[in-house]
Amino acid sequence: MTIRILNILEQTMADGPGFRTAIYCAGCAHHCKGCHNPQSWDFAGGHEVTVDELLEIIKADSMSDVTFSGGDPFYQVDAFTELARRIKTETDKTIWCWTGFTIEEIQADPHLAQMLPWLDVLVDGPFILEQRDTTLLFRGSPNQRIIYLKGKQDDTIPGTVPLVPLK
Ligand code: SF4
Repeated sequence: MTIRILNILEQTMADGPGFRTAIYCAGCAHHCKGCHNPQSWDFAGGHEVTVDELLEIIKADSMSDVTFSGGDPFYQVDAFTELARRIKTETDKTIWCWTGFTIEEIQADPHLAQMLPWLDVLVDGPFILEQRDTTLLFRGSPNQRIIYLKGKQDDTIPGTVPLVPLK
């Protein structure tokens, strides 16, 4: 199984708390006005890598957790779910995932929702240019929520919403 990616950032500190291996995937159809990364919209951009290859890179860094970003990982939900499942069953790393979908949209679609059980945190919703706030941590506009899907949530991170039980 392959994922079309634009870039892999190793030991980044900008994509969630602590050191993280960030996988930036290709393709996004949300087309938010003012998107910070419109070159990521092209579903044919970047190049394909296998889940095994990504897992090898992730495992090689013993101190970094994992971030899925893009683009929007939910447009490649089958392959990202497989990657997330293997990360959560073969390592003790946390996964933060950014998406332009809201969690309500994801939960209403069983195909998209398949990834939720394997994620620790979802940062959801489109970027709204008119609400842009550069003081927000990990988000561009306040409609976007930092949603802890399991375990203990970190209330010290502004934008964290109460733990959302999986449906
Ligand atoms: S969801 Fe993210 S990558 Fe996609 S258009 Fe919106 S801001 Fe850009």
